[in-house]
Amino acid sequence: MVLTSKVLRLLEKMLDGSMERVQPKIQAGGKFSYPEAEEVLDAHPGGAREILDSLAHDDILREEFFDKILTCPECRSHNLKFSLNCPECRSPNTSKREVLEHLSCGNTRPREEFELEGSLVCPKCGEELEAIGVDYSRVGELYLCGECGEQFDEPRQEWRCADCSASFPPTGAEEMNLYTYTLNEEKREWVRIQLGPKREVEKILRERGFEVQPNPTIAGKSGVKHSVDVYAADGDWGGKIVVSVCEKPDLRDIIDLHAIAEDVGTRAVLVASEPPEKKVKKFADKLSVNILREEDLEESNHD
Ligand SMILES: [Zn+2]
Ligand SMILES: [Zn+2]
Ligand SMILES: [Zn+2]
Repeated sequence: MVLTSKVLRLLEKMLDGSMERVQPKIQAGGKFSYPEAEEVLDAHPGGAREILDSLAHDDILREEFFDKILTCPECRSHNLKFSLNCPECRSPNTSKREVLEHLSCGNTRPREEFELEGSLVCPKCGEELEAIGVDYSRVGELYLCGECGEQFDEPRQEWRCADCSASFPPTGAEEMNLYTYTLNEEKREWVRIQLGPKREVEKILRERGFEVQPNPTIAGKSGVKHSVDVYAADGDWGGKIVVSVCEKPDLRDIIDLHAIAEDVGTRAVLVASEPPEKKVKKFADKLSVNILREEDLEESNHD
């Protein structure tokens, strides 16, 4: 798992306790989301789950089973409806009927067929039914299909997808386990080390007279609110900087940071623990995104 600036921000929140656990929410219709994590990671539910999953896979997070959700094997929709259908024609237009047996003639039919002007009369032999357990008995319940007239005691169990209309047996649905995530206690120190460059850059900027805000949300000229790792402003000089901290920057990181810096009208600095690839460095230069390595921070700290 590459520690992007957003993933680091998530881990920081889990470390400082402001987001102790990341718990899924299941909405009506079976859709799931990880609201807090999605906000920090700027991801859709599936994307957030993927990141959390891979952090758990790397043992950085611990996962605990929360619930299982089912999705359509055809279109992945969560919008499934459980249905009891006619085994003959598969119509869901079925209804449960009480079934009676007229003991003297053996006629076994749904109760409705015996009902006649307030009493029960056998449609086969024409005799009136007197008392349950004496001349007639209740056999049980049967389903009657409203489409094809089939009678059956075991309906066919099926899922129906409300989005693509596919139908499939109960075990045919795709299963997805959802987990609640917490920080692996044994990885606290490791996370702290990963956040080292961020703390370092904050310290250096403070020492140089900047007012530093860690993890702020800043509104840009466009009206969009941006979450950044560090925002620093120098009151006297008027300089403003947004800083993004990540493990190894890629083109996406450069583009994102550049866009934010343009929108909020600041300089852009990216602190990386691993050297960027040449093309990434070139691209960053072009967009005036200043890439600093951890070593650069240490050096400037000893100036
Ligand atoms: Zn039928
Ligand atoms: Zn009868
Ligand atoms: Zn579907």
